[in-house]
Amino acid sequence: MTFDPIIKVFIVRYIQIDQFNCRIHNLKSTQKKNLLTILNKKKLGGLLLLLVNISLILGLMQSTIVDPPPIGSPNFRQFPKKPRITHFSQDCNTTFVLSWDDARLTDVFLSPIDQKYGISHTIFAPSYRSYPNRSYWRNAFLLDELFQGYDVQSHCGKHVHLSQFDSREKELLIEWGRTGIEDLFGFTPIVFAYPYGDTGGSTYVQQYFDLGRTISAEGTSWPPSSWPLAGTTINTDGIDDNNLQKIEPILKKIYHSEGYEVFKGYGHTNPSGISYGVTDFVKYENEISKIAGWPDVWYTSWGELVAYEIEKHYVEFSSISYFDNRLEFEFSTPKLDTEIYKTPLTVAILIPKSWDNPFPQIMEKFSSQYSIREYQDSQELLLEVHPKSSSQKITIWRDIPIIDQLPPTISDITIETRVINQSWNLNSPQLLHHTFLRFTVEDTLSNVFMVNASVYLKNREKLDFSVMKNPIFWGNNSYGRVLWDASVINRYVPQITANDIDHIIIHAEDGFGNYLQKTVYSNGYEKDVSIISSQDELLHLLAKPKSSINRL
Ligand SMILES: [Zn+2]
Repeated sequence: MTFDPIIKVFIVRYIQIDQFNCRIHNLKSTQKKNLLTILNKKKLGGLLLLLVNISLILGLMQSTIVDPPPIGSPNFRQFPKKPRITHFSQDCNTTFVLSWDDARLTDVFLSPIDQKYGISHTIFAPSYRSYPNRSYWRNAFLLDELFQGYDVQSHCGKHVHLSQFDSREKELLIEWGRTGIEDLFGFTPIVFAYPYGDTGGSTYVQQYFDLGRTISAEGTSWPPSSWPLAGTTINTDGIDDNNLQKIEPILKKIYHSEGYEVFKGYGHTNPSGISYGVTDFVKYENEISKIAGWPDVWYTSWGELVAYEIEKHYVEFSSISYFDNRLEFEFSTPKLDTEIYKTPLTVAILIPKSWDNPFPQIMEKFSSQYSIREYQDSQELLLEVHPKSSSQKITIWRDIPIIDQLPPTISDITIETRVINQSWNLNSPQLLHHTFLRFTVEDTLSNVFMVNASVYLKNREKLDFSVMKNPIFWGNNSYGRVLWDASVINRYVPQITANDIDHIIIHAEDGFGNYLQKTVYSNGYEKDVSIISSQDELLHLLAKPKSSINRL
């Protein structure tokens, strides 16, 4: 069976409403409500007729973007003001990170729960436990974590007491903590968790990482003195079945305190019957459900948080100018290594109160990744911008200047099966298949908002995935997942190969609500179905709630 990226595109101009269901659950509740209203209206017609006239859209583009009027309108007396980078992403006061040490078997129970509640996490993995031929299940598990948008950082080359080694050995072990992950997964870890909290070799940690940390201390120098991330950990033994219920009150205390703070949860997972770490995942889910979805909290990972902290010092703004219908400026991070530091930065821009539907454009793309905060005399638009060494022109339009009516494209679908030794005993290897689904999603005019996939097996089973692009792991438009059988979750043994697959359906939606569904059959036949938002729907979908901060 081949899933060659043969492009056979059929734009189907009608679709049954039921096929919308697959995407509704991925939208935020306000968007969901709006979309359901639209869908209910459309059900009256039974079938939805969609006409895409690209030349019409191009004509609209040209007619809407006009030359600026001369500067000097009295409305703009208080401008221009330089945009600012918010202290934490999305201008949150509180940041929440959870990390799990050692890449344990039972960590696989975390991601379905965290995904359900919009929580991220970091796995601190020793390199040797995931190296080829020592990989057991971990290689596939860690890759799947990365595919899903979670974070993998370093727990040293081996899980050892570093102070017991001589200087040269310390350096080799710490350097391997970085290169081991780079070689296997293709990205550079920037955070180092000392095994057993033994801070031997901290000079080398400073050399190879941005941050070294233990449960009780962290720093770019050692002993730590300058690292600005104030925060609270749960207690010296880390998260455990017996203290899970402390997460909520500790987060609440941080949340209500003045200033910026980080909640830093750390722990281990274990199989039930072992007396430490998290073994009760029902209790874990219950506690996570209490702290999920708070406004003004950035739920992130160590990799993203530390990258954000580094990146914000490198931002340069230039050429800021205001016009009657827009403002413009250049954004760049020329001295930053954007191969390593990829967390989107939140740029806050003050705009006149009179602008009713301000809408951002980054280079050639219109972005839906923004929110608006209202003040007495003005409002601030918070925009997510990926750091790039070359200069990016950002325009904030006074009104939505253009409608994107092209759905994303899905291409380069590949199914790759690797044989990996799953045995704990190297003398009796147990070779099993790991099958990876990868593809590319691109949108020319806006950004990709949602991607998910269903894999239909020949035995009539169906595997559903929410598929993400991890900004730290992926530097391009690749999305993917490891296909695995949930019935053997505790051993993480993917047993699906390309031969088991009948067809795959991939769904992608852009920030304007334009949607593409691509079906790929085992014989290579492909079929596309697209749904294009009308302008009225779009205005509903994009209506941004104006926020004033309500603390819990
Ligand atoms: Zn450890």
